[in-house]
Amino acid sequence: MIPLCIPKLDGNEARYLAECVSSGFVSSVGPFVGRMEEMTASATGFARAVAAASGTAGLHLALTALGVGPGDLVATPSLTFIATCNAVAHCGAAPWLMDILADDWTLDPGLLERALAQECERRAAGLVHRATGRRVAAILPVLLLGNPCAMERIDAVAAAHGLPVVVDAACALGADCQGRPLGAFGTVAVFSFNGNKTVTAGGGGMVCTNDPALADRLRHLSTQARVGEDYDHDAVGFNYRMTNLQAAVGCAQMERLEEFVARKRAIRQAYDEALAGRSGLAAFPRGRHGDSSCWLSGALLPEGGVTAREAASSLRARGVGARAFYRPMHLQPPYAAAPRSDMPVCEAVWERILNLPCSTGLTDGEQAQSAQALLDVMAGRTT
Ligand SMILES: *Cc1c(COP(=O)(O)O)cnc(C)c1O
Repeated sequence: MIPLCIPKLDGNEARYLAECVSSGFVSSVGPFVGRMEEMTASATGFARAVAAASGTAGLHLALTALGVGPGDLVATPSLTFIATCNAVAHCGAAPWLMDILADDWTLDPGLLERALAQECERRAAGLVHRATGRRVAAILPVLLLGNPCAMERIDAVAAAHGLPVVVDAACALGADCQGRPLGAFGTVAVFSFNGNKTVTAGGGGMVCTNDPALADRLRHLSTQARVGEDYDHDAVGFNYRMTNLQAAVGCAQMERLEEFVARKRAIRQAYDEALAGRSGLAAFPRGRHGDSSCWLSGALLPEGGVTAREAASSLRARGVGARAFYRPMHLQPPYAAAPRSDMPVCEAVWERILNLPCSTGLTDGEQAQSAQALLDVMAGRTT
């Protein structure tokens, strides 16, 4: 089976891991964690980066540090990986689910602006969502597939209401936005180094910000809110640090960030050229707000035909590790009752998004085979 998205570990990964073992630094103390933070901050244009155990943990830390708590709402798009909403729920808050734009599959900023202006009012507690009586505590845009969203506009809407912006940039390492690094936008951005991301640490996350006090707070919360060398703690913290073992792999991967992102973009381009416009297939959108990191690639299937789940299963029967994309959060049991906008765009596309093999180590032959297999499936040809 041609795998969907697996890491390429033929750089310094093994050497750095061996250094961890021989030095004895395998836990969250060790030189690679700090190096990984510096490399991520510099690659994303943020002043500070705080390593975390995962992207999900990083989102939970960021929301907690920004004061999101029980009963609050966090505005976020419905089409995302469930980790986005789980991080909100872990704070005792609920997502306020919104539709996406058709041309980049990220949070619709006009919808966000109208929803905050028309469905909320300012009270002593802050900005309150009238229908639920809950405080809106943050905006959580998602750079889906690594597509930059309308960050300037979202930041302006947030500033108008005094809300922090936590950018779920889990799969957006390598993207830029309006010609500027992601570090130019939002209150914090969270990256993931999960095994299927463009750059992996086996697992891991990074919370990035330009606010040094917030960075200190994030680091403090991630290490059980411990004060000093003894067992004194001043808040309910988390055991959310990245280990030196993870960071060793992550540093070796970060050394190849440019190469990996260039490869991801080339894979996207090759699928677009092979597939878009044939058998009713369309290219994944990249948005018009900057350069996508092109984390995943594939095709948007035509309306009213086979679903991505059906196509993916036919493709897997042909040795091509394809997968359908996320089921939107308003259609998932844990978030079905969450407040939400109408979802015409989300509902029109989600079942048609098909992900095709896009590992950085994918060969041109494997890619051609994957594209041809999809054309065969679309044409109803049997193997
Ligand atoms: C991968 C991903 C996450 C979760 O990151 P983990 O490191 O797996 O916890 C969250 N949001 C999005 C959009 C992702 O792609």
